Amino acid sequence: MVRAVDGVDISVNRGETVSIVGESGCGKTVTAMTVLKLIAMPPGRIMAGKILFEGRDLVPMAPDEMRAIRSKQIGIVFQEPMTSLNPVYTVGQQIAETVRHHEGLSKRAAFDRAAEMLSLVQIPNPQKRVHDYPHQFSGGMRQRVMIAMALSCNPKLLIADEPTTALDVTIQAQILELMNEMKQRLGMSILLITHAMGVVAETSQRVIVMYAGKVVEDATVENLFANPRHPYTQGLIRSIPRIDLAATTHTRLEAIPGSVPSLLNPPRGCRFAARCRYATEACTLAEPPLREVAPGHKVACIL
Ligand code: SF4
Repeated sequence: MVRAVDGVDISVNRGETVSIVGESGCGKTVTAMTVLKLIAMPPGRIMAGKILFEGRDLVPMAPDEMRAIRSKQIGIVFQEPMTSLNPVYTVGQQIAETVRHHEGLSKRAAFDRAAEMLSLVQIPNPQKRVHDYPHQFSGGMRQRVMIAMALSCNPKLLIADEPTTALDVTIQAQILELMNEMKQRLGMSILLITHAMGVVAETSQRVIVMYAGKVVEDATVENLFANPRHPYTQGLIRSIPRIDLAATTHTRLEAIPGSVPSLLNPPRGCRFAARCRYATEACTLAEPPLREVAPGHKVACIL
């Protein structure tokens, strides 16, 4: 049995953006999919715990009720919009279908709403573009369509899984800016899954750092960058290019040596020990618990 995510405790307050950050295989996406109850069951299983959304536990919720919550109250944006958009329907039909299903609008009103949503995410000429198919949009525009679709029912929470990873850098910045703007305009919360610390710095109020299925650090974005306490977080931050240093020094970017351990047979004690420059024998004896080291700043490290 693999425990892909183990003992994770995350909260997202109203109007807040919380990022979950870590390398591939750290459990970020499984965490988000679990919140949405979209992990394949079986073989996936939520063995214990609660997922509280607006005071209700989603874990025992029936599939129909969960489906309604997913599309009406929790919006989802994935990394590659082409896997979520249906290539044989126009984007207008797809957005209209979502709002018709959940708000019972007439066909005409739903199509008008689709055009409004495209306009909201700044797609030029929305009245015309609702009649286009996904392949007629560029990568960045397709991601805007996905955001429009996710926001069409006015969700309280938007879960965005690596929403900018497949895009080039200038388009990434535009999409992040758009998400920030939408958050402020619609008053929703965002749970952002990313491996990019630069994206975290630009978008989030709070950051959860995950390693091998566990939360290793949880802090405000200011604390995390000013005073990263976990050696893994420190390594992630050291691997970000610094424009201010690059101009004056010849510092090399540091990579974290090694890779994330297999969760089939996770190591005893601290899961990061094999890659940690401060590891001692004590680190391998027991798993370090997540402890509060300063107000609102939690770390799982014996140091
Ligand atoms: Fe490194 Fe030990 Fe801290 Fe783990 S517990 S991060 S191995 S110092």
